[in-house]
Amino acid sequence: MKYVLVTGGVVSGLGKGVTASSIGLVLKSCGLRITSIKIDPYLNTDAGTMSPFEHGEVFVLDDGGESVLEKERKGEYLGKTVQVVPHITNAIQEWIERVAMVPVDGKEGPADVCVIELGGTIGDIESMPFIEALGQFSYHVGPGNFCLVHVSLVPVLNVVGEQKTKPTQHSVRGLRGLGLTPNILACRSTKELEDNVKEKLSQFCHVPAANIVTLYDVSNIWRIPLLLQDQKAHEAILKVLNLESFAREPKLDEWVARATIFDSLTDTVRIAMVGKYNGLSDSYLSVLKAPDAYKAAWNSLKGADGILVPGGFGDRGVQGKILAAKYARERNVPYLGICLGMQIAVVEFARHVMNLSDANSTEFDPDTKTPCVVFMPEGSKTHMGGTMRLGSRRTFFKVADCKSAKLYGNVTYVDERHRHRYEVNPDMVPEFENAGLKFVGRDDTGKRMEIIELPSHRYFIGAQFHPEFKSRPSKPSPLFVGLIAAASGQLDKMLQDCPNGHVVSAKHHLSNGSYTSTVLQNGHAKKLVNGLPNGTYYANGNGVHA
Ligand code: GLN
Repeated sequence: MKYVLVTGGVVSGLGKGVTASSIGLVLKSCGLRITSIKIDPYLNTDAGTMSPFEHGEVFVLDDGGESVLEKERKGEYLGKTVQVVPHITNAIQEWIERVAMVPVDGKEGPADVCVIELGGTIGDIESMPFIEALGQFSYHVGPGNFCLVHVSLVPVLNVVGEQKTKPTQHSVRGLRGLGLTPNILACRSTKELEDNVKEKLSQFCHVPAANIVTLYDVSNIWRIPLLLQDQKAHEAILKVLNLESFAREPKLDEWVARATIFDSLTDTVRIAMVGKYNGLSDSYLSVLKAPDAYKAAWNSLKGADGILVPGGFGDRGVQGKILAAKYARERNVPYLGICLGMQIAVVEFARHVMNLSDANSTEFDPDTKTPCVVFMPEGSKTHMGGTMRLGSRRTFFKVADCKSAKLYGNVTYVDERHRHRYEVNPDMVPEFENAGLKFVGRDDTGKRMEIIELPSHRYFIGAQFHPEFKSRPSKPSPLFVGLIAAASGQLDKMLQDCPNGHVVSAKHHLSNGSYTSTVLQNGHAKKLVNGLPNGTYYANGNGVHA
């Protein structure tokens, strides 16, 4: 196994995550098999309990995790003191080696390269044990197996536009002081680095100029892998890892097409996301302003082409979400409810269509007389004592002729990721179905409701799982594609014309009257001259056309 470690210096929010995934992508397009690890250096043992306001929404994978504390509780340290060095640093290394070996591409055997992103900024106290562990680790795996990419900032300070190297010099010095030597510098800056700036960095940071790439500001995120390729970052990394002879030239046509299409899109679809907002409840000032905020929120909801109610925990903001679901249902506005958003839609339907005015989820009212969403713990072999239904579970389509089954490509089942404790009360399902709310996807026992639909509505779908976790640039989650298509009035045509994944294309008119297009279908790019397949959505600078 070869490792690429991505660290960050100077300031946070530089785009380490985008850089790490773009590196993975470019190496993958060189024909290598890639896996990745993201390390967030915080002390929480159960990251799932962190508020999304802390570090963004917790990203759920197919499986779960394990920690040093668990090992201590199992008595594996035999009563000895548990120390940062060697216990935590050893645990970190063992954990990296174990997780790196798990293939993520569905193929047999481990990947060729594991890209590790270390969260935080060099110098943070929190990340010290990880840096120490990774320093030991680089020594342990040996030269040729470890490549350190340091993402840093080169600010432009004055009107002359001088690019300043000092912050990067300092952060590389910090890295060296901790026993790690960067092989590649990825410098964030507004413009491409001048040659003399590169030379200066090279001299002070002891990194060859050929190994210094600039991640300058570009029009969209899909251009980052292309920037890396243009500046031959893959060649530098492959050389450090002794992989040159195993790799081919990267093929990134699909990404060129995606980046080009993105830049030529001009029409906006407005999706209102109805969640709970800290500001409204946490400060005194906002209480005073609440009526204005309420009015403004309704106005933006009414101006939206579609409504999304995402997942969430606790009862704050629930009333507003129920009102949003009601508005979407009654006004035929496309609606996608994720996890809590599906449960909200069910409560709303029970209250206002079935006239069960006290219907509720037992999460919000444990004593409700009409519990239409109830606590349903699931015995799990991997998560002892946990009550959360977490990770990948299978959903079977019960109704073939529904929008969600069609969007998923007429499959009989889908595997999606979950993160919840409450579910639709199975005892009330027949009542709901009689009233018109259909449970079109269920688990293998038929007792857990996974997807709801209102067949009479333009697009009213709720999923107990989180489709966002498996959404990819080349394979956007079908339920999101459905929401956008419905919100822009293209859903019916899309389902009719392109049952096997829609086609998008960038069209370029040539001076001789003909045109070329780069077509993207299910993530694969094709170049065409004077022709577009049926059901293509194309962009040519004047918006998107069907
Ligand atoms: N709070 C709800 C539950 O636990 C929904 C969770 C979520 O949206 N992820 O079931």
